[in-house]
Amino acid sequence: MPSENSSSSSRRAFLQLSAAASAAAAFNIVTEPMLAAAARHRPFSTDAVMIDSNENPLGPSQPARDAMSAIIPLGGRYMDNLTDELVHTFARQEGLNPDCVHPFAGSTPALRFTVVAFTSPQRSYVGADPGYEAGPMTAEALGARVVKVPLTKTYAHDVKAMIAAAPDAGVFYICNPNNPTGTLTPHSDIEYLVENKPQGSVVVVDEAYIHLCDAPSTLDFVKAGKDVVVLRTFSKAYGMAGLRCGFAVARPELLDKIMDRSGWNFMPVTALVAASASLKDPGLVPERKRINARVRQETFQWLDRNGYSYIPSVSNCFLLDTKRPAKQVIDAMAQQNVFIGRIWPVMPTCTRITVGTQEEMERFQTALQKVMRGATAFSVRPARLMQNPRRAAVLPT
Ligand code: PLP
Repeated sequence: MPSENSSSSSRRAFLQLSAAASAAAAFNIVTEPMLAAAARHRPFSTDAVMIDSNENPLGPSQPARDAMSAIIPLGGRYMDNLTDELVHTFARQEGLNPDCVHPFAGSTPALRFTVVAFTSPQRSYVGADPGYEAGPMTAEALGARVVKVPLTKTYAHDVKAMIAAAPDAGVFYICNPNNPTGTLTPHSDIEYLVENKPQGSVVVVDEAYIHLCDAPSTLDFVKAGKDVVVLRTFSKAYGMAGLRCGFAVARPELLDKIMDRSGWNFMPVTALVAASASLKDPGLVPERKRINARVRQETFQWLDRNGYSYIPSVSNCFLLDTKRPAKQVIDAMAQQNVFIGRIWPVMPTCTRITVGTQEEMERFQTALQKVMRGATAFSVRPARLMQNPRRAAVLPT
């Protein structure tokens, strides 16, 4: 393990001290479970099928569980060396300078403080529609203009439209693969955005789901010193949503601005050791990716056979088009003890489905057939790629 006096440890301590002296903005933090809970109240029950929050039903890996058990007796200590261990492990694996990596208790606070650092009433937030809501909600709380740009017909971020929509942008948010569509934006499009965005803005690439697909990461832009902040989380492929660990990755000047807003954010030792153990397990990500892809593919084949429409996804979630107000389907599914959701206003007949275990998806299928073919059923059309909900105008919220 690196010693407590290693350079990134002291640098972090210095920054945290200076952050304490700065006025950190206080906002309600918006997280995936809060968004899911706002859409519906699901009981926490081991009997229910809970595929509404993009969680990983497999949970933490065995090495992560073992590492957490071993650290519990030392849980009374502040152990900054564990933070260094995690940061250095990640940086070494990705070929990054450790000073470009900062851990947070999940990527939600990393996203939130990035938005706080780079948007304002003068600097707008630009994202996709439909897109992950936590960033725009933070920007709105700051009084920043929020610009939502429809996805392209292949459900990628429309980077040219995003640039055109906001010469005053502070943050361009790209989620790759996107939540909720599970679709990709080509690396070359993100590069175009990075090279052509207005001066003073940053491109935030949320790679929460990147481990589940074959897309290249955008960490290369960080290595090249670009105005890019990459967000990573251990909540998805690594199955650690409840344990809370993520990273903001950016060149040190950008990270300093984010940390200046975040203040003291010491990490739980359980999350630190579980994340380190997960990174050091070479088989973990490929296995989780394979399992997710297999269950997702089998679910899509079933949907095809039964005439349902959905957006093909490379992630652990996808949008199902129910062809009627999706809220009705969400509520009827809940009656079957299957919790799905939520809805994005731009696509009101669609609802997001998280890919759970094979058994959960079989229960989802049984419930969906009951709901769609039952008393409240409507006729379903043959499966096809859904029409893109592209809207003519760029809609500020
Ligand atoms: N970013 C996206 C796109 C997400 O979908 C989520 C959670 O679902 C997060 C970030 C937050 O993840 P975390 O649990 O690390 O805060």
